[in-house]
Amino acid sequence: MAINWYPGHMHKAQKEIKDIISDIDLIIEVLDARIPNSSENPMIAQLRGEKPCIKILNKSDLADADTTALWIEHFKSHKNTDALAVTAKTQESLQKIIPRCKDIVVRDVEEGKPMRVLIAGIPNVGKSTIINALAKRIVAKTGNEPAVTKSQQRINIGSGITLFDTPGMLWPKIHSEDSGYRLAVTGAIKETAFELDDVASYLADYLVVSYPEQLKTRYELEELAPSGYEILEDIGRKRGCLRSGGRVEINKAAKILLTELRETVLGRISMETPQMCMAEQLAIDKKL
Ligand code: GDP
Repeated sequence: MAINWYPGHMHKAQKEIKDIISDIDLIIEVLDARIPNSSENPMIAQLRGEKPCIKILNKSDLADADTTALWIEHFKSHKNTDALAVTAKTQESLQKIIPRCKDIVVRDVEEGKPMRVLIAGIPNVGKSTIINALAKRIVAKTGNEPAVTKSQQRINIGSGITLFDTPGMLWPKIHSEDSGYRLAVTGAIKETAFELDDVASYLADYLVVSYPEQLKTRYELEELAPSGYEILEDIGRKRGCLRSGGRVEINKAAKILLTELRETVLGRISMETPQMCMAEQLAIDKKL
């Protein structure tokens, strides 16, 4: 899969985070609950040292609730790490964030100093939506396409907390080919960066193993074909994506599957579990 990254943005972000990290009391890392491992930013792990961190699993309204619970447990088992599932679509779940910060950083608040919280996340995880909700006003630009530039912001959100929006651009680390595909499936990577049918075939292959019933029910498939590509063909046939001569327009079928996955038409689906990611990491480590 060909993906173009921008090392310039990455180095700028790294330098600026290094400059402010020593003044930070707590890091909030916003993740996509459907891909909590693939949407992590490697720089945060590298630069945070012993700083406490809350992993916010946002978009939990789109993810499988059982899998999200496994991820919360997984992150909480790490040193100085807390985890919380939210959805920025409702204020209600976001209201848990500030009390959680205060549970962790007690000292500064007692001394009357504002707590300094760095909020970080790769593009499209919902970081701006969360910042705006916490600030109760529009301070960060939101959108469904990954943005290209952002400048650093320091935002007083009340309750004795100053929020530092991560400067520069934080790209995900593509841990593996699987991570690349999962980022593409969820829309974290722009569609122009990959082949649609390639990503949709990957998705179909995954759904056959992890969510076969949802796939069968949605597309009225009695049997699931052995490969993702053939499943796309079956979906295309069911949906009338046909060229003259009866050949399936794979690109159209791919678009249908990806769109319906992202809009939860197939149900709430997580693209990775802690167990899967640990096994993949072991395989990568063995190769090195
Ligand atoms: P940022 O690039 O991380 O700042 O992401 P944005 O805040 O711009 O959000 C990216 C897209 O995800 C927007 O279309 C948001 O409306 C959407 N979004 C953000 N949070 C959630 C959520 O919890 N659930 C769902 N379904 N969509 C969300």
